Order: sequence, then structure tokens, then C-alpha cells
Amino acid sequence: MNRESLQSAFSADRPRIDACFLGPYGENDGLLERLVVEFLRDHVYWRRNFHPEDPPAISTEASRHPDYLAFESRMRRELHQLSAALKKSVPFHSPRYLGHMVSDLLLPGLVAQILTLPYNPNNVSEDAAPVTVDMEVQVGLQLARMIGYRHDPAQPDCAFGHLTSGGTVANYQALRLALALKAFPVALRDAGVPDLALPEDDWQAFNLHPRAATNLLNDYQSWLAAQSAADRKRWRQRVQTGRIEHMGLAGFFARHANLRVPWVLAPVTAHYSWSKGLKLLGLGRAQLQLLPERGMRLDTDALEAMLERCKRERQPVLMTVGVLGTTEYGTIDPVDRMLEVRERSSAAGLGHSVHVDAAWGGYLATVFRNEDGSLRSRDEVAADYQSFPADEVHAAIAALGETDSVTIDPHKLGYLPFGTGAFLCRDHRVTALLAEEADYVFHGSAPKAYLERYRSLGQFIPEGSKSGANAAAVFVTHRVLPLDHRHFGLLTRQTILAAEAFHQRATQFASDMSEQVVAMVPFAPDSNLVCVAINPRGNREVAAANAFIRRLHDEMRADPRQPLQLKQFFGSVTTLRPEALGDAEMRRILDALGLDGASLDGADEGDDRLLILRHTLMNPYLIDHENGISYIDRYFDYLAGRIRMLVGEGRAGSNLGAGHEH
Ligand SMILES: *Cc1c(COP(=O)(O)O)cnc(C)c1O
Repeated sequence: MNRESLQSAFSADRPRIDACFLGPYGENDGLLERLVVEFLRDHVYWRRNFHPEDPPAISTEASRHPDYLAFESRMRRELHQLSAALKKSVPFHSPRYLGHMVSDLLLPGLVAQILTLPYNPNNVSEDAAPVTVDMEVQVGLQLARMIGYRHDPAQPDCAFGHLTSGGTVANYQALRLALALKAFPVALRDAGVPDLALPEDDWQAFNLHPRAATNLLNDYQSWLAAQSAADRKRWRQRVQTGRIEHMGLAGFFARHANLRVPWVLAPVTAHYSWSKGLKLLGLGRAQLQLLPERGMRLDTDALEAMLERCKRERQPVLMTVGVLGTTEYGTIDPVDRMLEVRERSSAAGLGHSVHVDAAWGGYLATVFRNEDGSLRSRDEVAADYQSFPADEVHAAIAALGETDSVTIDPHKLGYLPFGTGAFLCRDHRVTALLAEEADYVFHGSAPKAYLERYRSLGQFIPEGSKSGANAAAVFVTHRVLPLDHRHFGLLTRQTILAAEAFHQRATQFASDMSEQVVAMVPFAPDSNLVCVAINPRGNREVAAANAFIRRLHDEMRADPRQPLQLKQFFGSVTTLRPEALGDAEMRRILDALGLDGASLDGADEGDDRLLILRHTLMNPYLIDHENGISYIDRYFDYLAGRIRMLVGEGRAGSNLGAGHEH
């Protein structure tokens, strides 16, 4: 699409999203206020209607008692202080905020949450959340549909998903579930369950394809169901005591001395929650093996070579992790090729799970989905953009349905309040391995059994008590804006178009500023996160370039000691490192910037990498058609002004070109 028609498509969507947010100026304050008041009153009626015959317990005169008044004043004073203090918050709602992965909140989610809070449901189980626990299970199905998992609970192998406090805990849940599934066939062998087609030895049992392990689990469940009650109890106990969850890692690997603690293979760009997860699970950080990237994507040749090595050395692999939207660069790993590699590896005897960490990028799938849930072709999607999506991006999204599990954060690109991450697994039957209690309802008839089962949500999740209001917020949002390209996808589309406009403007900026600096977009953005690398003209030293970026960024970060209004823009930074990019890619970028690669080697910590500006373009009002303002243009004008000032200072001090920092 050309630039003009893009622009008009961009503005044609506006009326459809204008009621979505409170808005940068609080434009929709009236709407929000009406809804909040309406549903607060509604809640009060609900209280009164429970047993209208119960008289009010707080007297109508209570509010005149001095103690009441004293409490009220104390409460007011503290609330005023809180409200005042919060004025120092980071203005995520503003199109001047280009920093981290957060923006304004969708009104349906915000209102649903406020509406639900006074009911205070606890989604640990239906006893404490008769309404919202079902909503959470439905959210799992909504997200499953978005990524191409089976989402019909009438199907025995329907997917399952639940909310977590965030992507970190969802990734942890993925590890926990993959380990349970990997080790279960070993326990079945150990117990000597008859009539099942068990693997020949422990090595095979520990290295099944997850689908084969799932089938074995199902066969075992069916076999159990056919036993007498007494036998069932006995066998269940016997298998239970041989499970890794029962014995612990130490006990399990002592008993199966021929097996090693499995590795997790993830790209170097993986989020640090993976390190946390391996520590928490007791596998140990050393079991996290980081793989190089090539062209800003996980290098599947290196992955394959690593798996070859593992097979040779009889080193089991728990899972490979692909990232859909890296936290630092927004880049997307080749999920499709990772799955091909997994099939080959499993066929050669080294089965493992494939998990996709789509905490950031999961909602990108909305622009790839038709309303009927089918996948849009690359060309259909591309008709809306200048260069999005790269073939690799389309292929990665298209392959999501074949992965074993996925992490998605509604509190990132879903524009929902914090406390809403999500974990999804492709085949819900494996969650039997997570249940704290024996999972009896398993053989009831679907889909009723499915919903009933997960009403005891606390059985399956890492957390216990948790917010039902969060589940209501996500559920209602996905109902108002279904997760396809005509609904939620309109928002996602705005972010991608903004990124394309930003990329274009950055190129112009580079040429406008070429006297002062060398600026570039170091790699084509995969989605809505765009980085800009800048080096003062004539400088060869990475350390001096980094110092320059630090000074630029200092003005663009939250600083509670300063009035908020002094900030023109908020941005963030990240680094380019040879380990993450590969030497060739790193050299290409350093050369283009006029930097001497040798200045990276042996540098102090911090200067062994290149600092760059990072921009998250998820605010839907970056281009204000109402007033003809582009905050993208304004940002680059601001940046140009700052650079002229810093370069001027540097020349006056004549220390920039020489690359010394005093
Ligand atoms: C943000 C993020 C996480 C962690 O999610 P939290 O919600 O912050 O716990 C994990 N992986 C990726 C790729 C992320 O972007």
C-alpha cells in the first residue's frame, strides 16, 4: 500500500477505536464516570437485595459520631496523599511515552475490573468465584483460538489456558508442565503398569515426543478407569511415588542414574524469567543453554547442532523456547522451523517440548486471524502495510498452533491492567499431571467435564488465591474486541502502522542529522518495537557512543525528583551485543555507524556492547489526526534538538571526537 492510502486507512479506523480508552487528554472521562457510577450503584442494590429483611447494621447516625468522622478524615488525608504521590507516575497513557511495553488501559477491561472488585471473587476455585472462574477458563479458550490451538471443549484434546500474575509465572508454569510430562513415562515404567505399551528403557521413556507422552498418559488414565476401585487406588499410589514431583529431582535422578537433569534451550535474547524459572524449579541456571541468533532470529542450525550434541552425549532436553517478540528488540523467532527441528530430533530419539514465549508479541496474532478463526495469508495481511509482515513472521505465527505451550501477556499488548499474564497448553489433558488431588472428573463427558474440572483452578496453577476481577477484565475485553483482525486487530494494526511511520521518519532523521551524527535503524523491525542507533560523527569508540546515548536517555527516563511536565518524551534503551547478534551482524552495524569493532573487545562491563535507543510504539494516538499532530515527528524534532545541544557541548569541550569521557 502506498503512503497516502496507508494514512487514510489509518485515520478511517479512528472512529472505531475512539471509545476504547480514557484517552490521552481524558477525553472519555464522561463515559468512564457514567459506567463506574452505574455499576457501583448496581453493586449496592445487589447487597441490599440479598436479604432485604436484614436491617442496616450501620446506623444512619453513625456518620455523625466523632470516631467515624476521625476515621473518615484519616482515610481522606491518606488518600489525598496517595493521589498526590501518584501524580509522579509515569504517563503511560500519553503519546509522548515510547518507553516500555505498556500504554493506556482499554476501557472495557478497566471498567470490568472496577465493577468486579467490590464482589472480590477469588479465582482459586468456584467456591470463591462462581462466576469469574469460568471466565478465566473462557479467556484461555479465547487466547487459544487466537493462536490456532483447538478451542472447543467438546474435543478431547482441546487446549487449556489460565491467567498468571505475568509472563514470568506463565513461563514457570510451562517449565513445570513440560517436566511433569517428560518424567511421567519413567514413573509408569518404574511402577510396571501392565497392559500399556511402555518404552523399552528409561532413556526412551524420558525422551518421548510430548504427543507420545500425552498418549501414554491418556492410555494410563483409561486403563485406571477400567480397574476396580481398590486396584485403582493402589496403582495410582504406586505410580505417584515414582513421579519426579514426589521424589524431588535428587531422588528421581538418583533412582535413574542413567538419566541426566535435562536442559532448556533458549535464544540469547530470552527474557530473564527463564533464568528465574530454572532456579525456582531446582533444575539450576546451568541447565539453561543459550543459543545464538542469526539475522535477529534464533539460529535453527545452531539449535540442530546443539540437539545433535545432546543426543551424542545422552543429554536430555526439556524444551526449546522460541520468543515471539523479544523484550529488547521485538524480533520473532522461527517457530515453524523450530517445530521441524523438533520433529527430526524426536524421530531420532530426543523428544522435547516446544514453548513459545509470546508475552510481548502474542496479540500480534490478532491481525493474522479472520473473524471465523481461520488464518489470513501473508498477502492478505500485507495489504494493510508497507512491509509488514516479513515471510518469517507470518510463518512463525502460522505455526503457533503446533507448539506445546505458549505464554501471552494481556497486560502488555492486550492493554489490560497488570496482574494478567497467561499460560496456554495445546492439549489440556496433560494438566492432570499438575493436579494436587487425584483428578477424578477426567472421564466425564465433554464439554461439561472440561468446565467442571477447571472450576478447581487452584489444583492446576502455580498460584493459590488470585484476582477474579482480573479474569473478568480480560474476558470482557475479548468479548467487546474479539481477537481477530476486524476487532482487536484494529488496535494492533495501529501499532504496526505507527512503527512503520516511525521507521520511515528515523531514516529521514538520519539524513537530516548526518552532519552531527550517524544514525540508523540497526535492523528491520518485525513488529511494533523500533530501535535507533546513534553515534556522534567522527567518533570511533563504542564507550563514547554509549556515553552519548546515556546522556540522551537521561532526559527521557522517569525521575521522581523532577516535575513530570519537564519531560518532553519517555524512551528506553537496550544494547546490541555480539553474543546476541552474531559477529557478522554486529560488525555490519558498527561499520555502518563508523565505530571501531576493536573498541568493544576487552572493554569494561557495559561498554562491551552498544547502547541504542528502544521505542515501544503501542500508543494508539501517536498520530493525532484530529489536530494534525504527529508525536513521531515531534519526537524526532526533540531528539534532533538534544543532539545538536550535546554535540555542541562536546565540540566546545572538544572531547567527543577523541572518545574520552572525563
Ligand atoms: C515481559 C516479558 C516476560 C515477563 O513477563 P512479566 O509479565 O513481566 O512477568 C517474559 N518474556 C517476554 C518475552 C517478555 O516480553
